[in-house]
Amino acid sequence: MELYEKLTEYCEAKLTLYGFANLEENKEAVFLDQLKRYDYAIAIGINIPDNIVDNLDTDEGRKKYLEAYTQVNNLLNENASHIVEIIKQYGFNAVNVDSSYILPGENFVGEISHKLVANLAGLGWIGKSALFINPYYGPRVRWATILTDAALPVENKRMKSRCKSCRLCVENCPVNAFDDKEFSEDVSRDERYDAGACASYFDRLESMGKPRLCGLCVKVCPWGLVNKNSRKKEDKI
Ligand code: SF4
Ligand code: SF4
Repeated sequence: MELYEKLTEYCEAKLTLYGFANLEENKEAVFLDQLKRYDYAIAIGINIPDNIVDNLDTDEGRKKYLEAYTQVNNLLNENASHIVEIIKQYGFNAVNVDSSYILPGENFVGEISHKLVANLAGLGWIGKSALFINPYYGPRVRWATILTDAALPVENKRMKSRCKSCRLCVENCPVNAFDDKEFSEDVSRDERYDAGACASYFDRLESMGKPRLCGLCVKVCPWGLVNKNSRKKEDKI
């Protein structure tokens, strides 16, 4: 079996969503110089169950979300490690880019943009909320990425924003972190989203003895709601 078929078979069985991207012309998705030598990427996603996201407006719901967040991150890392092993068995190099690692500093960015990779793979778009929005799961998915030098037979299918006139995340954010701007490569994330305001709000919640999380932008996005009944895969956690 060819590597691409093997990877597709694995991802289909184990993940909620997955896709392949060619990074040759898209190195802006990679922030860490050591990782820029990999030309191909696999975006993998696991959904956070609806019964957890739908309760993000309560302290109890936020506690459950934090538990689910850790479970999903662990599962993503486990699957990413398996995928790396599969690729290595075929004689190529691959690395698992941790889904939750943030580079030191004030910018709140990771080693790569998992969202840009998933966007190149045609899995959705970056919303006004700076979250990745999939047409079937909305922002209710956590993402990880595997980078490889194996030349996978993929063409990028970048999806354009479907946020349009929706403002639900903008209006529901308690600290007005969003500027009502659709994603554009010409507009920096800082101009669309104030990550510092969101982080300070989390700090404030924690200092009040509450769960260190908000997540209202995840809960209210209509793309996470409208297609609930058309989702085909079982929850993974
Ligand atoms: S998590 Fe809450 S505070 Fe942070 S950006 Fe989303 S809605 Fe705003
Ligand atoms: S809530 Fe509306 S504007 Fe915000 S990300 Fe979702 S679709 Fe886009």
